[in-house]
Amino acid sequence: DWAQQKFELFRRKRCGSESEPTCGADLSHLRITAADYRIAGRDEAGGVGMENHMTVTFDAISENEAFARMVVSAFLVGANPMVSELDDVKTAVSEAVTNAIIHGYEEKVGYVLMRCILKEKQLTVCVQDFGHGIADIARAREPFYTTKPELERSGMGFAFMETFMDHVEVTSEIGVGTTVTMTKQLQDQT
Ligand code: ATP
Ligand code: MG
Repeated sequence: DWAQQKFELFRRKRCGSESEPTCGADLSHLRITAADYRIAGRDEAGGVGMENHMTVTFDAISENEAFARMVVSAFLVGANPMVSELDDVKTAVSEAVTNAIIHGYEEKVGYVLMRCILKEKQLTVCVQDFGHGIADIARAREPFYTTKPELERSGMGFAFMETFMDHVEVTSEIGVGTTVTMTKQLQDQT
């Protein structure tokens, strides 16, 4: 019938193949496995109580800085954050994601993984890249230290993260990547 024909037309357009019912690409890497679930910090036995976990991956392109800010804001909606808290978290996330894109991958192909956990108004945000890594983390965290002065970076990203979040932890390995984990306790508004 008409709907069936229309559907077939769509399918062929999208899949580029008359006979193959799937798109033919290997999408196995997109599947979420039990291991990914464990990485997200969930206990398979259940009983996570009042925790909320969210994981998102996106391409390391500058358009996605705004995307990451929006995602973390949306994640926090249920926690009823103050506007100032939202601003702080968005700024810190922006800095970490920008670093992953411009330093981690130097704007080459790559992806950023962002994980948020909310547990009794304690927010943990983890921004991870699989790029260059940082040789000297203590040095990198110093205010005004930058390896890209030619790009007019000011070396203040980590300083902002530390100012706007309660705690910032950086782990990194050359050639493996960098993980920035930040926590912030949100106020209990009554
Ligand atoms: P700004 O953030 O003010 O634009 P910046 O990015 O250079 O400048 P920071 O964000 O404080 O300053 O980072 C300091 C340095 O740490 C960077 O110049 C870079 O050498 C290194 N760095 C930070 N994040 C990463 C990352 N994800 N991968 C590799 N190197 C990084
Ligand atoms: Mg920076």
